[in-house]
Amino acid sequence: MNTGTLGEINKTKIILFWGAIFMKWQEYQNAVGELYNQMDQIGEIKKNITIPDKITGQPRQVDVYWEINGKNHRIGILIDAKLRKSKLDVKDVEEVFALADSVKANKAIIVTNTGLTEPARKKAEFIGMDIKIFSIEEALETIVEDYWQLCPSCENDCIIMDSGSSFMIDGLIFWSIGGRCRTCKTAISWCQECGHYETIEINKHIECTCGHKWGNDENGLWLIFNGADKGFYL
Ligand SMILES: [Zn+2]
Ligand SMILES: [Zn+2]
Repeated sequence: MNTGTLGEINKTKIILFWGAIFMKWQEYQNAVGELYNQMDQIGEIKKNITIPDKITGQPRQVDVYWEINGKNHRIGILIDAKLRKSKLDVKDVEEVFALADSVKANKAIIVTNTGLTEPARKKAEFIGMDIKIFSIEEALETIVEDYWQLCPSCENDCIIMDSGSSFMIDGLIFWSIGGRCRTCKTAISWCQECGHYETIEINKHIECTCGHKWGNDENGLWLIFNGADKGFYL
């Protein structure tokens, strides 16, 4: 393949690790809900719901609500997802605690990718709030279907859908996901623009609905944008 430098093809290569920016809080919130859904547990998980405020009656938005019905008791656990760039502080802990109180939850859990400052951790511990660290990578694994899968070609190893790129093209973000089998080098390409998902054997290439060419050679999975004369390795 004729490879150009990334700079020649697209001015802005935003990130190499696709999850870092592209996971929006809504997706993180969804992943947190899934995490609790997938746990072996009792009760019912509700995602992104509103519960009336105990005083004002106004609807309060709750990321994840875990309800357990026991004998004559109903236990509500409020789970708040916080996707952040820096550690949570005392104010965050207090806000979640206040929200839990407003919706009459019996317990609150904060799920975050970053962790807490020391004072915030002390505060959470004091008020009996649980903290769970859930990284962006873990969140992605939870919501990206088939993140790990058996290689359809050799059936001997896994393909991990971990190579992705995102680019800004004419103001639009293009996002691709792919992976290769560590044993036989068969690749899977997944165009996030058109949804085309295909297995590509080594030294073969395919075209997605958008007209982008996706190929697989000794050096890796490559992509040539529709209309571009040069491509790049994902
Ligand atoms: Zn394989
Ligand atoms: Zn496409």
